[in-house]
Amino acid sequence: MLIELGGAMDQRLSAQWARVRARMRSEFGETAFQSWLKPLTFKGFHNGVVHLLVPTRFMQNWIESQYGDRLLELWRSENPSVTAIDVAHSATQASGDAHANGRSAPGAPAAAETSDGFDAGLSAPLDPRFRFDNFIVGKPNELAFAAARRVAEAGNVPFNPLFLFGGVGLGKTHLMHAIAAQIRESAPEKRVLYLSAEKFMYQFIRALRYKDTMAFKEQFRSVDVLMIDDVQFIAGKDNTQEEFFHTFNALVDQNRQVVISADKSPAELEGIEDRMKSRLGWGLVAEIHSTTYELRLGILQSKAEQMSADIPPKVLEFLAHKITSNVRELEGALNRLVAYANLVGRSITLETAQEVLHDLLRANDRRVTIEEIQKRVAEHFNVKLSEMHSARRSRGIARPRQVAMYLSKQLTARSLPEIGRKFGGRDHTTVMHAVRKVDELKQSDSSFAEDVELLRRMLEG
Ligand code: ADP
Ligand code: MG
Repeated sequence: MLIELGGAMDQRLSAQWARVRARMRSEFGETAFQSWLKPLTFKGFHNGVVHLLVPTRFMQNWIESQYGDRLLELWRSENPSVTAIDVAHSATQASGDAHANGRSAPGAPAAAETSDGFDAGLSAPLDPRFRFDNFIVGKPNELAFAAARRVAEAGNVPFNPLFLFGGVGLGKTHLMHAIAAQIRESAPEKRVLYLSAEKFMYQFIRALRYKDTMAFKEQFRSVDVLMIDDVQFIAGKDNTQEEFFHTFNALVDQNRQVVISADKSPAELEGIEDRMKSRLGWGLVAEIHSTTYELRLGILQSKAEQMSADIPPKVLEFLAHKITSNVRELEGALNRLVAYANLVGRSITLETAQEVLHDLLRANDRRVTIEEIQKRVAEHFNVKLSEMHSARRSRGIARPRQVAMYLSKQLTARSLPEIGRKFGGRDHTTVMHAVRKVDELKQSDSSFAEDVELLRRMLEG
């Protein structure tokens, strides 16, 4: 009943379809295109209706709701005789079964269930630059790296879940993509699903809206490896959390590998239910610590080499010394420097680096350290600096120490355990308590609040 592609008429139609796709791609961006629009195939045109096909019912719903109107408009601008768009999913076509559950019955037509279709719909695209072989390993990330390798190489499930955590720009997503890419390569039969917690939530909300949660559950629970990036995103989102919890449990119970990343350790995640936190910590929890000078230098050397950029060692050392925030910023600095040198045809020197990167260098200069905070706070309250680390608990000493912990939390990117360690090896719950206590006091005592505010401005200034 559909016109088969092949004739002159159909060449025109496929040219029109190519233009529609190109415009969708530029309008909605590469990520959306790769996830949703690329898997669409054009089946034919009949009585004013353009027939399109996607691999799953999920994608069908999503495309109809998110892109349906725009698809129709674009088609009409190409071909005024188009009156409607019909999006079908191949699971229905192939088997006559309304359930698009990703896994097909044995012997079902391959086209209906290919893992390609499945992955294209749910999994986020992987960045080919994020591989194990270009991840530079040092003290701060060696445990996370080794654990990620284990999960990627193991035929079984070495620990479940693997929970990677650390501050922004330290390599969590890089390691996640590397795991997914390696498993897909060495075990293509495995269903590896990688997506951000944010996307997980969107999918779930969609499913709720379309009363399609059965298909949602089936899709997620039929994977071999589930990887959710930035799980802190679902903090406070109760329904999504609930669903995630069930998905997580179902997979772990079936001995399927789960890999999670977050900006904090399970215990420190706020707005996540306790039972969830405890389950997240069941497997291996690996922290990616902030970078050291050696690691930063190693990363710079390797990236400079990859870019075949001729940069004097002095300049790399200078950058490793100055740009301490995170790897993303470090990379950004290097890229900018190389681009600049190429553009103006000058060689890179310490002077060019300082000139081209002055804003980044300034921003990194201004970042306060916990040591500075401790020093300033001790001076301000007239206690000895050593009391910041001491075990003494009298009010006159404990209070300034709490203020310093509070300001460390506010002004640095350090995690609670890291802060605790810098205060005489205290536990992260002590830091959490200090933060809460200072917040309370600020509410009830306005002169205390002014004091803290003054210190904060001094430290930031
Ligand atoms: P996160 O997800 O933790 O915020 P990303 O994984 O996105 O951080 O890393 C930010 C950037 O830094 C990426 O381009 C990544 O390739 C790079 N990067 C981070 N850590 C390393 C490392 N150890 N070696 C090489 N590149 C790294
Ligand atoms: Mg990330």
